[in-house]
Amino acid sequence: MKKYIFLATAFVSFLSYGQTDWGKVEITSEKLSDNVYVLFGRGGNIGLAIGTDNAYVIDDQFGPLTEKIQAHIKTLTDKPVKWVLNTHWHGDHAGGNENFANAGAIIVAHENVRKRMSTKQERGGGRTTEPSPEAALPVITFNDKLTLHLDNGNTMHAMHVNDAHTDGDSYYYFPEDNVLHMGDNFFVGRYPYIDLNSGGDIDGLISNVTMALGIVDENTKIIPGHGRMASKTDLEDYLNVIEKIRERVVKAREAGNSLEQVQQMGLSKDWDATHGQGFINAERIVEFIYKSAD
Ligand SMILES: [Zn+2]
Repeated sequence: MKKYIFLATAFVSFLSYGQTDWGKVEITSEKLSDNVYVLFGRGGNIGLAIGTDNAYVIDDQFGPLTEKIQAHIKTLTDKPVKWVLNTHWHGDHAGGNENFANAGAIIVAHENVRKRMSTKQERGGGRTTEPSPEAALPVITFNDKLTLHLDNGNTMHAMHVNDAHTDGDSYYYFPEDNVLHMGDNFFVGRYPYIDLNSGGDIDGLISNVTMALGIVDENTKIIPGHGRMASKTDLEDYLNVIEKIRERVVKAREAGNSLEQVQQMGLSKDWDATHGQGFINAERIVEFIYKSAD
């Protein structure tokens, strides 16, 4: 039950963080390997790798939380955060970039993260996001993959994946630590969010998750974009649900039904009670598939 409360809070804050009482947010962490941790707070889950001289952070939640995040990191290591890497451009994952950059970090992300953060974004329903300040933008961008050689001898592999949650999604994989951060390609026990205004695509999501299942093993610690830590079995369950709904929705669409008609059919009803009670409900998952599936 606890995880559902956490997720509900995270998703509500994503939509209305202007009213969030940041003072009430508590940052917690879990140790995943000798050198890698996950941090939870409000917004996307944070990966933290600790080297011999530097610390490396994947995603940094919202700007108003930076001091709390930095304070929590100080309880785990005295090494400075030299590198910050983003899984995608959304403000609940990259909102702390400016503060971390001002504190000396180098921001790294896929080139579409920089493109979207540096220009005004349409978010649907008339909402827009203004361009981020220069300091928040990634200064090193990649278009396919990049390997970061950590100063403890281990590696972190950044992999741009197919357009799925957005068109700038990346996974970060630590082979020696056996940890994979999947960003918002993975919400544990929830329907996925396909950001159609940011180039998201359900078919890309399915192929990315399938690819991730080829990387991980039974012992891999999978960091999802939101929610508790996950295993290979959790990821298999998630893929299974998405594939089944996709098949039903595409079949109904190809039979000539409108989006509204398909939304009335209850095609996701087997999982709505468990997966569709949060930010992405039955209506929205059907819409994402209807609009983006080939
Ligand atoms: Zn996101």
